[in-house]
Amino acid sequence: MTTELQDPDILLVRYGELALKGGNRALFENALVRNLQGALKHVGGGEVIRRWGRIQVKPAGRWREAMRSCAQTFGIKSVSPAWNTERNLESMVAMGRRLLENKLQEYPPGSQPSFRVTVKRADKTFPMTSGELALAIADGMLDEDSTVLIQMKNADIDFNIDLRPEGTFAFLEREPGPGGLPVKTLGRGLCLLSGGIDSPVAAWCAMKRGLKVSFVSFHSPPYIGEGSRMKIRDLIRVLAEWQGPSTLHEVQFADIQLAIREGAPESLRTILYRRSMQRIASHLARRSKTGALITGENLGQVASQTLENLACIGAAANIQVLRPLITHDKEDVIALAKRIGTFDVSIRDEPDCCTVFQPRKPALRAQAPECETIEAELGLVTLEEAQVRASAKEHIHPGS
Ligand code: ATP
Ligand code: MG
Repeated sequence: MTTELQDPDILLVRYGELALKGGNRALFENALVRNLQGALKHVGGGEVIRRWGRIQVKPAGRWREAMRSCAQTFGIKSVSPAWNTERNLESMVAMGRRLLENKLQEYPPGSQPSFRVTVKRADKTFPMTSGELALAIADGMLDEDSTVLIQMKNADIDFNIDLRPEGTFAFLEREPGPGGLPVKTLGRGLCLLSGGIDSPVAAWCAMKRGLKVSFVSFHSPPYIGEGSRMKIRDLIRVLAEWQGPSTLHEVQFADIQLAIREGAPESLRTILYRRSMQRIASHLARRSKTGALITGENLGQVASQTLENLACIGAAANIQVLRPLITHDKEDVIALAKRIGTFDVSIRDEPDCCTVFQPRKPALRAQAPECETIEAELGLVTLEEAQVRASAKEHIHPGS
């Protein structure tokens, strides 16, 4: 007879790298708790409790959604839905039987999944060793006609008992988290977000290393339509599932592109667009205590992404530029985009403003001094300052 399994009592949350951060440890742990509380807000709330190197979450809403939110919080190694049991062999065995019976429903009849019991004993007052207790639990759980095969290495089903001073927890699953460091513990970054595959992934990589990321998008109506604007917002909605509500600055770019088309050599257009983007983004960043720009640039991915061009573009910024994807292969970036959830949005066929008046033959070795002379002649700085002042700011929340 199969009994319906009740919802788990808590989510056990494990975190990794934080432990290495010495004096900053409490700071990082507090940030992680805060970020988890923030993430839970969007899925019905819940309680987040910090205990001896672990975090326990008691979801108030649907636990599967809460678990997904926890598994999308940077700094987290893994999450397990766990059930409370009493601190005696009979209760542990009874809970183990219930969880195993439920789990076996996922296997086709006649299959023989491998099985093991793992006991962790943080509470050393329990009168048996971990090994003895694991054996006794397995012995109590498995009948003679049991279909599972005991196997100690890489078992398909691993029944865990976690004996801790604050309680005894039973679980089977371990959902991996993204690792990294809690968002905002390393400060703020501003990502130049195009609708392509790369820049959303670059933003995600920066979040993973502890930055809270805002976005700037350059838009060129009437040459570029509403579809591109929607695409940018949809990308940020996906990224906000990883870092929480996010800020977008939208800058009108058509005037600047027209000025460049009129007054600069054709081969330098793309470089001059990019340099202008760097200057405008630097302005926005300095207004909001942001320590770095983030781009999706990659060495050699397209013919124009040469060392010289990257240097010439970067020279226009006056804060540091992070390029998290600089040495990544395209396939790796695509795999990451799929895991993050941005890929399906990125491949929507919408133009980017850099394609407006695109040169037939872009320069491969642009030099900053030559660009500076042209920019001064065109009075680009004045146009850029006007667009910074006219830029619009909005807040975008997670979800669709
Ligand atoms: P992506 O896939 O992010 O578009 P890419 O490999 O296509 O990158 P480019 O199109 O050369 O490279 O753009 C380089 C970077 O310039 C982008 O990754 C992004 O950071 C920035 N960028 C390009 N267009 C825009 C835009 N319209 N708004 C904001 N940033 C942009
Ligand atoms: Mg692009």
